[in-house]
Amino acid sequence: MRFQPPASHFVDGARLEDEGGAPFDVTYPATGEVIARLHAATPAVIDAALGAAKRAQAGWAALTGTERGRVLRRAAEIMRDRNRDLSILETHDTGKPLQETLVADATSGADALEYFGGLAATLTGEHIPLAGGDFVYTRRRPLGVCVGIGAWNYPTQIACWKAAPALCVGNAMVFKPSETTPLSALKVAEILVEAGAPPGLFNVVQGMGEVGGALVTDPRVAKVSLTGSAPTGRKVYAAAADGMKHVTMELGGKSPLVIFDDADLEDAVGGAILGNFYSSGQVCSNGTRVFVQRGIKERFLARLVERVKGAVIGDPMDEATNFGPMVSERQAEIVLGYVAKGMAEGARLVHGGTRLDRPGVFVEPTIFADVTDGMTIAREEIFGPVLSVLDFDTEEEVMARANATDLGLAAGVFTRDLARAHRVAAGFEAGTCYINTYNLAPVEAPFGGSKMSGVGRENSKLAVEHYSEMQGIYVAAGPVEAPY
Ligand code: NDP
Repeated sequence: MRFQPPASHFVDGARLEDEGGAPFDVTYPATGEVIARLHAATPAVIDAALGAAKRAQAGWAALTGTERGRVLRRAAEIMRDRNRDLSILETHDTGKPLQETLVADATSGADALEYFGGLAATLTGEHIPLAGGDFVYTRRRPLGVCVGIGAWNYPTQIACWKAAPALCVGNAMVFKPSETTPLSALKVAEILVEAGAPPGLFNVVQGMGEVGGALVTDPRVAKVSLTGSAPTGRKVYAAAADGMKHVTMELGGKSPLVIFDDADLEDAVGGAILGNFYSSGQVCSNGTRVFVQRGIKERFLARLVERVKGAVIGDPMDEATNFGPMVSERQAEIVLGYVAKGMAEGARLVHGGTRLDRPGVFVEPTIFADVTDGMTIAREEIFGPVLSVLDFDTEEEVMARANATDLGLAAGVFTRDLARAHRVAAGFEAGTCYINTYNLAPVEAPFGGSKMSGVGRENSKLAVEHYSEMQGIYVAAGPVEAPY
């Protein structure tokens, strides 16, 4: 098997295998080839990982921020040096075209390690002066052992977006990748050790939901950060609440992309493409409800279809390919089920809609027009390459419709009217908004959802708040005045 790792797990600074765990195969979605066979973590592996993290955490937290940051920045450099190999692995794990993985996966992970590596030495508390010379000072303290649980669409990025802020503040982490894409997190773990992270600081254990469940409920765990669907988020949040643990929930979306008739049409079409078809549409923040003002609807559709016809669909390892397969047969079935529902409920299919007759799990980029708010494809997250165009007339109307969902991950607006752009962005009930672009996620900016799309933010300085807590220390300068 071409990408078989030496062992399934990475615990306490070393590879670890336990064949007592349920075996599972990793397949290359472009061909169906089995590229690795791993074992889910047994209770003994989970226990070893949490024990190692607990032991490593105290020593790591005792280092200076400069020292911790140096390790993270060294890891970022190693990741960048190995970007091509890591991207090839990511492409085989996920099916995403190499053209994408070369610029959006290990590179994004390295950005996070570099950014939080730089931030580590700058984290300080506050001095709060009080009457009579008394004062309070605050200390930023790590939470302890954090658990990261990842989805399958951006495995390297998710591992790093969670590990980098967690480690920067002095926490340790046990990370469980999605069982569909388990390989690249192991590389992240190896690189961190190579960069000088102590054994046990970042551990990877494999498995399905029950492994995640065992991690979330363990009393040694102080914080859980999940990237996944809203239904899983609800379960994991509830389990974490039982132990009063901190959480970050990065969940799904059904985000609106609003295109006014004064927008630059080419940019708006480009935004809709980026917001629906990158990674074969398997992106949580996708703007899948594309509201187009009635006056430009047919022009928009014509140009969108014309440009989508230019997608190069095929072998993800060919760097000319810019549209690859879905991650799995199961995901393709889900997507094709939604396409069938869209047609049955009266949406007009203007492009795509079928699975390509070739090996691998290829579903065409699909565009529906005349979609109305009540249709299933306008209400539920599809997580595949299905774009729905809905018509609208006025700003007031479209804002009410855009926000009429339980989800609130992202939202975008295209218009040349500056005042309207800011008004609309501020009116979106969503955590991550775009004006005249879509789906960019630089590490410097906060990323996360409102409403059922989650709690907390990843990236930016804000992420530090979600992996640490402030301790207030009162210092008295005068005598203690007790009443008796
Ligand atoms: P899932 O919610 O199915 O799974 C997410 C992770 O949680 C997986 O590792 C899964 O394990 C694990 N898991 C499942 N059940 C439990 C449980 N009871 N306790 C602990 N862990 C559990 O999501 P997908 O992997 O299918 O990913 C797609 C979803 O992720 C979409 O909804 C998408 O929008 C969302 N997403 C959100 C992002 C964001 O930043 N907001 C970014 C990327 C994706 P396993 O699957 O191995 O069984």
